[in-house]
Amino acid sequence: MKGTIRSAIVWVIVAGSLFAQVKPPKPGFNLFSAEQDVQLGKEAASEITRKMPVVQNAETSRYLSDLGKRLAASKYAGNWPYSFQLVYDKSVNAFALPGGPTFVHTGLFAMAENEAQLAGVLAHEISHVALRHGTNQATKANLIRLPAMLAGAVAGDGILGSLAQLGIGLGANSVLLKFSRGAESEADYNGALIMADAGYNPIEMARFFEKLEAQSGKSGGLPQFLSDHPNPGNRVKAVQSILPKLPRREYKTDSGQFPRIKSVIAGLPAPKASAVTPSGQAQNPSSIRPARQLKEHRASGYSFSYPENWEVFSEGQAVTIAARAGLMRGQGDAVQVGYGVMAGFHPAQNKQLDRDTDALIDRFRQENSGMSQASQRRIRVDGYDALVTTLHSRSPFPGETEVDAVVTVIRPQGLFALVFIAPQSEFNQIQPVFEDMIRSVRFSS
Ligand code: ZN
Repeated sequence: MKGTIRSAIVWVIVAGSLFAQVKPPKPGFNLFSAEQDVQLGKEAASEITRKMPVVQNAETSRYLSDLGKRLAASKYAGNWPYSFQLVYDKSVNAFALPGGPTFVHTGLFAMAENEAQLAGVLAHEISHVALRHGTNQATKANLIRLPAMLAGAVAGDGILGSLAQLGIGLGANSVLLKFSRGAESEADYNGALIMADAGYNPIEMARFFEKLEAQSGKSGGLPQFLSDHPNPGNRVKAVQSILPKLPRREYKTDSGQFPRIKSVIAGLPAPKASAVTPSGQAQNPSSIRPARQLKEHRASGYSFSYPENWEVFSEGQAVTIAARAGLMRGQGDAVQVGYGVMAGFHPAQNKQLDRDTDALIDRFRQENSGMSQASQRRIRVDGYDALVTTLHSRSPFPGETEVDAVVTVIRPQGLFALVFIAPQSEFNQIQPVFEDMIRSVRFSS
């Protein structure tokens, strides 16, 4: 069910102009210099653009960076070299690095009802940059060791490499990207000021966050965005209390371009072909081992969590989530998953777990010559009876045998199958990750 889209909202000020009462938050204590924020952001952004599929589309790039620039022009955005890039990822997320590089997932566009809500997320992210929350948190966590490290970072591995020695990276729960509730209310407040400056109704930012929260409540999992930006408590009310302090103006909800951009983004092809490694150039599988930190993938009828260093490559009936270097082009140009997971529903002729699983395994064996069944056991997945069938086949990694662990569950939509794929030399090492993923599966009707 979609909410109503308002083309314009006029905010009437009751108490007259009380603009002087606006108190923008100020950056906290920080051992990094402003230049070091910028340098760290640059290093981190180049790592991210190497690992994540940045969308190369002139129309969407222009739209996003124009919108970002309009917001960054606010005096509440400070003076940072902001940049805005779209990442092909269906999860609802956005994040900003110290010094200004900001990344928006394609999934965020799908969730936002109007441009003001997208502007709200950007204004909130810009505020974390302007208020230097990432490096402020890194400072507070490492008061003792940080000064020497920052002094030495110039010559050595760069700031990102040096921070890694303190256990600070870009992964989940990084102090650079996961904010305290105090930082969240500051970013909401400052973000509201930025939005109003750019002519967007600040309330749309709070509405969007609450909508995200309501949706995740229904499906049980917390999207990465809410885990990085925890709710400081009643966001809509907090933003409402700022509104009367802002100068009287008419707010817009859309520039008129948003619906078009949203549909262009919805139609973007998955970044598949360029991601595929020719099997002759296969990496050592241990170098692309899955991370223990998981993030959630939500699809129609089910959700589960997957290693945060893996990427979602295709969606629709079935999804493939894999390490980029775990996808390989094998014989006959077919793309093979050498290290990853596939999930989706398959026909369930008999509505009976054992028989429908047998039929699916038979199909897999027809499609993959030389595949054999090694074992089968019963488990429970999200409270339902499930089978884990382990198969062996030839891995696209040279000289490797592949292990495929097929988890099947009967659901109203058909036979749900989650297939874990890894080279045998890796399988024992990563079994705990697979088990965490099985435990994370949730079904919905
Ligand atoms: Zn935040």
